[in-house]
Amino acid sequence: MNRSTNGLKGILMKHRVIIGLEVHVELKTRRKMFCNCSAQYFGQEPNTHTCPVCLGLPGALPVANRKAIQWCTQIGMALNCSIPSFSKFDRKNYFYPDLPKGYQISQYDEPFCLKGEIAVNGAKIGITRVHMEEDTGKLLHETVDGEKVSLIDFNRSGVPLVEIVTEPDFDNAKNVKAYLQKLQQIVRYLGVSDADMEKGQMRLEPNISISLDENSKSLPKYKVEVKNINSFSFVEKAINFEIKRQLEILERGETPVQETRGWDETKQKTVTQRVKEEANDYRYFPEPDIPPIKWNEKELAKLNESLPELPDEKLNRFIKQYRLSDYNAEILTREIDLADYFEEAVKLDKAVTPKQIANHIINKKVNINNVFPAKLIAEILSSSKIEDVSREDLIKIIKEVLAKNPKIRADYALGNESVLQFAIGQVMYVLRKKIDVNHLRNLIVEELK
Ligand SMILES: [Zn+2]
Repeated sequence: MNRSTNGLKGILMKHRVIIGLEVHVELKTRRKMFCNCSAQYFGQEPNTHTCPVCLGLPGALPVANRKAIQWCTQIGMALNCSIPSFSKFDRKNYFYPDLPKGYQISQYDEPFCLKGEIAVNGAKIGITRVHMEEDTGKLLHETVDGEKVSLIDFNRSGVPLVEIVTEPDFDNAKNVKAYLQKLQQIVRYLGVSDADMEKGQMRLEPNISISLDENSKSLPKYKVEVKNINSFSFVEKAINFEIKRQLEILERGETPVQETRGWDETKQKTVTQRVKEEANDYRYFPEPDIPPIKWNEKELAKLNESLPELPDEKLNRFIKQYRLSDYNAEILTREIDLADYFEEAVKLDKAVTPKQIANHIINKKVNINNVFPAKLIAEILSSSKIEDVSREDLIKIIKEVLAKNPKIRADYALGNESVLQFAIGQVMYVLRKKIDVNHLRNLIVEELK
């Protein structure tokens, strides 16, 4: 990226910002990844969702959760990854109190999904890999009897966790935020995670570095990882802070230290957490207690077919099929519940156009949990301006509609009053004007007599 920054020496005026992302998403399976414990641990009494497997007791054997593997694979499919037919789990060895086994079951060189890509604000972002692992326990630092202690809650230990790694393809914080919003939207569409950041169901780790050679494809010798970010706006702020901080160091002719930093929201800055001397040696080796996974074509095809319509497809369809503006279609497809609600309302009544429905939902900020689609239509009809249509014109159209739909007359004769609603819809569809529905209803009844 060629960008001049005020106050920087000539050498730094041309630089390239390089950002990659690691995102962890907790799956909302009923059971944990390798045991039968409930994975719905949020807000539960500590250490009540545990068993010998997720406590890492000797001799306990893990059994992989099939649903979690399928969901991880579907995330990869939605991100246009290729799905290797062979995959396996590995042990990632490191010592930390929240990890009772002394290792985490993860995936090293044969993850479930590889080499995907996704478009964000017109830029192509490469997906390096999507793999499956287990979450760790949670450390709580508290004071008990005047003494500072660390408590461990193992309820989260073994909850299915998917890690999604991108190529270092971002050059600004805005696109990172857009990517994260899209990723959250996709996992929600898939129904595999609520990706609620405040509950720790989606965790973000950007890594940032700056190259002074704007044309070189090679990466700088350092990178700074930022952890503990729990909102999209914080990620944007943390990245912009890092870019500024690193540029200032480079300006002095120095190289930023390779380290892990955290975002401090009160101070509005990143702070050092851990300086990495060298690459961690996790001594990965294949997990001997879980057999490798071999997909057959049929299974993969079935998983692929069961993918729902994804956000981008739905957005484009809404624009095309309902002639909505890009803006309205984007808002309506942000969440699948809202998109479904809109479509339900569209199907309900032909007298109201999809455009009117979209405008009404968006402008009136309709709470879709309180207003049924039928009530929404009624609101739109009564709020629209009533236009003057002559009685003769109306009767003419009613006659046409009744002639075209003899079933209306037949059903009405049998006492089916609800057929009137259909007749009203048909008349209004032909008329394409707002009129007094009660008046129209009376005219139709008269005509049917
Ligand atoms: Zn368990």
